[in-house]
Amino acid sequence: MQLTIAKIALATPVRTCFDYVVPLAIAPLLKAGMRVWVPFRRKNTVGVVVEPIVVSTVARHKLKSITAVIDAEPLFDAATLAWLLWIADYYQYPVGEVVLAALPTLLRQGEQAKLSQCRYYQLTAAGAAVDFATLSRAAKQKQALSLLAEDGALTTPALQQHDISLDVLRRLQAKGWVTVAERPLESASTSISTTKAPSLTAEQQQAVSAITIDGYGCYLLDGVTGSGKTEVYLSIIKTVLLQGKQVLVLVPEINLTPQTLARFQARFTEAVLAFHSSLTDKERCQAWLRAQLGQANIIIGTRSAVMMPFRALGLIIVDEEHDLSFKQQEGLRYSARDIAIKRASDCAIPIVLGSATPSLESMSNVERNRYHWLSLTERAGDAKLPAIQLLDIRHLKLTEGLSAPLVAKITQHLQRGNQVLIFVNRKGYAPTLYCHQCGWVAECTRCDTRFTLYKADNKLQCHRCLATKPIPTACEQCHEPSLLPLGVGTQRLAQFVEQQFPDYICVRIDSDAIRKKGELNKLLAQIKQRHAHIIIGTQMLAKGHHFPGISLVAVINIDDGLLSSDFRAAERMAQLLMQVAGRAGRGAEAGEVVVQTHHPQHPLLTTLVNRGYQAFVSQALAERRATGLPPYAYLALLRGQAHDKSTVEAFMKVAKQYITAKKSAVVCYGPLLAPIQKVAGQFRMQLFMQAEQRALLHGLLSELMATLEARPAAGKLRWSLDIDPLDIC
Ligand code: ADP
Ligand code: ZN
Ligand code: ZN
Repeated sequence: MQLTIAKIALATPVRTCFDYVVPLAIAPLLKAGMRVWVPFRRKNTVGVVVEPIVVSTVARHKLKSITAVIDAEPLFDAATLAWLLWIADYYQYPVGEVVLAALPTLLRQGEQAKLSQCRYYQLTAAGAAVDFATLSRAAKQKQALSLLAEDGALTTPALQQHDISLDVLRRLQAKGWVTVAERPLESASTSISTTKAPSLTAEQQQAVSAITIDGYGCYLLDGVTGSGKTEVYLSIIKTVLLQGKQVLVLVPEINLTPQTLARFQARFTEAVLAFHSSLTDKERCQAWLRAQLGQANIIIGTRSAVMMPFRALGLIIVDEEHDLSFKQQEGLRYSARDIAIKRASDCAIPIVLGSATPSLESMSNVERNRYHWLSLTERAGDAKLPAIQLLDIRHLKLTEGLSAPLVAKITQHLQRGNQVLIFVNRKGYAPTLYCHQCGWVAECTRCDTRFTLYKADNKLQCHRCLATKPIPTACEQCHEPSLLPLGVGTQRLAQFVEQQFPDYICVRIDSDAIRKKGELNKLLAQIKQRHAHIIIGTQMLAKGHHFPGISLVAVINIDDGLLSSDFRAAERMAQLLMQVAGRAGRGAEAGEVVVQTHHPQHPLLTTLVNRGYQAFVSQALAERRATGLPPYAYLALLRGQAHDKSTVEAFMKVAKQYITAKKSAVVCYGPLLAPIQKVAGQFRMQLFMQAEQRALLHGLLSELMATLEARPAAGKLRWSLDIDPLDIC
């Protein structure tokens, strides 16, 4: 007898899909991309149909049946589903966990895929005919009636904004003047007043004309800070919207740059929706459904928005494509930028990667003619790019991190009535507490890290495992009361600056300072309105912000980036420096950037400062090519960690032996202890695998994963495979 089987993806660590019998009554309804309820490990579980009807090789008595179909229509179309399967394969990750992770939490739990209904209040004929004079003693009723007369229909929250209570509405209903209807929230425009687009500069115009919107193409929009990349996006988006298509805009951090969203909303009357982690489950689900139904025209979201479904996707934009936050660092370690490029290619639509400091990966793809390179070399409007100077601080006395020439420079700019940004890459008071007598350093007992000192809170904190303890009064080794802070964090700098410049207002922006909701917006507004003169910030302030009053950017130390063992450290340092520098001189006055360093002759640094980011890229790419590192090789990283060091070691050795025995062209480095060898009490090891061809590496990795998973030791430690790893600490 013929048996109808469906292949179902389930959220479990098993690599493959599961076979379930399709009951006859369900068979005609079942399509790929729909959700179903299935029995799994004695529970009812939500699964997604990957293939609706196949013939199974599993013996019938072992198979269970689908319990029920949840959706009337598929949630994922064939192309999206195929793309999700490709992701699972590329990142060597269980299919079910990829597919289910693409659903918002509520849908993963089996809730109906329905837009939530809204109550709309409307006037009846009687209500429209009411003589207001008869309502002189019911002011709120009168107000409600006139609002409804003006707007046609209004939702409860809209009326409540005008202070009209449910009670008032109930009374109007009782009088037969108002009716209520439930329907999905209309995707009406979020803003009524739209701002006009400026006329594009010649360079912007050139970039816009180079982008063809019918068909795949990957465009790298390489534009200096303030060159008007966003205007280029807005212009292409407009053309795509006119074709009735949707646009996905991926940004690194929506909360840090609220003005981006506002700018899009102000420009278009179409529905612009945000999708990010601070939405509630319900909001996320609604936004997801509106994209899926085609009711949202523009989705602006962080990393995870790349997985949303669309009715008619016409364009993808990845802003700040070099940003690390596009790479997920746990679970499914995907790069949103990379999978977005594959998605655009699958959908035959254009994708634009924008950055003032493109990644070396993207630049090498330009070199290989895989991406079109569009360049904006000048700032839009009258603003000029700032000059960057290196300030040699060898032999100079530093007071709380600042040299005398830098303090003098800051004074000059302040006296001219300008704002100054001081960039420091450490939060807290000081990154280290040490003993002046014996050299002892306060370290986290659970991690291979130093404690950061928080003086005002009287605590030490580990930034890895977040453990805290009170600041000891004496050294834990020699017991002398000789403990001193070493290094400068934002809090220490702020304290000094406030003493040094008592007539000026100083604000500090780092993740500690903006923990309270709304605090960041408050501080940003304060800077915009020039109610702050000195701004001390971490990299949080490096990107996206437009503060025309800042004429000096001071970088007090970038030497960490020059000395690190991570082969990407120089690239990061260059990107960060250019982005921070990009905050200067965005107004009428020319900007200046001063960088304190102990290595003023470092070749990468001098190239960057004297000849610019492009020259830096050429030099850095040449180095990577010579040393056979990415982007000229493909890299995968096997990580393992456990409380017991020998468990990790043994596991890593198995992996290494397996690869070596294969005698393929995949090169193996390690296993080594990770640069931070212990976190939260667990030892961490790494094994690097590298090949000149991607196919070679991937072929081997899928075999390796199967082998490792089959080992009994696999359950005794935490381990993972990272394809194209970015963070190797
Ligand atoms: P980027 O994204 O490249 O950093 P933005 O798009 O934010 O640059 O533009 C920087 C500033 O220049 C913004 O204030 C923007 O309004 C302005 N701008 C951009 N393009 C133009 C233009 N063609 N004419 C006038 N001003 C422009
Ligand atoms: Zn001591
Ligand atoms: Zn710790």
